[in-house]
Amino acid sequence: MQHFPDAKAVVRVLRPEEPVILNRPHAAARAARFFVEKFPGKSLYAVKANPSPELLQILWDNGVTHFDVASIAEVRLVRSTLPQATLCFMHPVKSPGAIREAYHSHGVKTFSLDSVEELEKIVEACRDDEGNAATDLRLCIRLRVSSEHAALSLAAKFGCDLTEAPALLQQTRQHCDWLGVCFHVGSQAMSPFAYVQAIDRVRAAIAEASVVIDMIDVGGGFPSVYPGMEPPPLEDYFKIIHQHFYALPIAYNAELWCEPGRALCAEYSSLVVKVEKRRGEELYINDGAYGALFDAAHVDWKFPVRALEDDLIKPEMDFAFYGPTCDDADYMPGPFALPEDIQAGDYLEIGMLGAYGAAMKTDFNGFGAAERIIVQDEPMASLYDGSRTRPEADNVVSLR
Ligand SMILES: *Cc1c(COP(=O)(O)O)cnc(C)c1O
Repeated sequence: MQHFPDAKAVVRVLRPEEPVILNRPHAAARAARFFVEKFPGKSLYAVKANPSPELLQILWDNGVTHFDVASIAEVRLVRSTLPQATLCFMHPVKSPGAIREAYHSHGVKTFSLDSVEELEKIVEACRDDEGNAATDLRLCIRLRVSSEHAALSLAAKFGCDLTEAPALLQQTRQHCDWLGVCFHVGSQAMSPFAYVQAIDRVRAAIAEASVVIDMIDVGGGFPSVYPGMEPPPLEDYFKIIHQHFYALPIAYNAELWCEPGRALCAEYSSLVVKVEKRRGEELYINDGAYGALFDAAHVDWKFPVRALEDDLIKPEMDFAFYGPTCDDADYMPGPFALPEDIQAGDYLEIGMLGAYGAAMKTDFNGFGAAERIIVQDEPMASLYDGSRTRPEADNVVSLR
């Protein structure tokens, strides 16, 4: 991969005809070290946020040893990139073939589930050649929790209800020596209290089941910084999670896990795009809804933008973007503030696309290509560069 100081240098030298993904290894390394050092338990990287092998290696080199995978392709990818990594198959609905291959060929022992059917599927798929049941399974019940504090809900699709959880916990306990409970509060959780509410649900489920619980996995949802979404410091989340974890009726040596996706990689990448056409307040750019800007089009996500030409002198105004495909839905309302005199042929940088950005690119309509380049400058916003820490006394989160 080529190296440049920053996006302006890339544009000056290359004047790229196609979008360019700029990766910042130092930013991903810093995020990994932050979680490894400060989260009071184990941090699993949720691979779906950005499965690039270079990123997996950076996280591993900076202390992330466990990976949350959701498909057999992710299992194979992480296993081939990081032979020593611990893989946890945390998708609650898997195919028998995927479970079989993960367990028998890639050493995966940890699986999540939210139904009796899935439990039976896992038990069957992990039997040995003689038909003996596996004795080393580590199973994790996914509980449905509220997504009310999150920018993106994950409450509808997965997770068993409190009414079903106790029976499922008891039944699952009979098939494993290590039983966990997991949940996901939704992505970009803007308040630490999301986790408090979820842990309260866990408490209710395990109190009624009265089984020994060996692990609590508070899932992903840890936020990054975007325009209009400035979360409290991650330390506040960690502190409150730790405190509520300790008060749970669980095994004395129970483990605490989390599965950050976004928070580990949002700062890793940005995107350089070219303006192909201007129509009033609309800019036609060469990446969009079917590229790295899926969330900007489909869930109205706001990403930071900046113009990369030095000769733009007018004040900023609000623009909307059209992507390159022939689909009307390839539209990103923004608004994105850029200099009034921006025009066709100019370049922009769109920031904070390391999570659910670079990973979302498709080849639809022939527009998938993007070169990847390493840059050394800071991401457009950061939770980890020291700019957002604040004194304890100023902490808005009051602990119960
Ligand atoms: C997507 C996902 C994550 C990561 O979520 P973020 O909001 O990116 O932190 C973690 N765990 C599971 C099970 C997921 O599906």
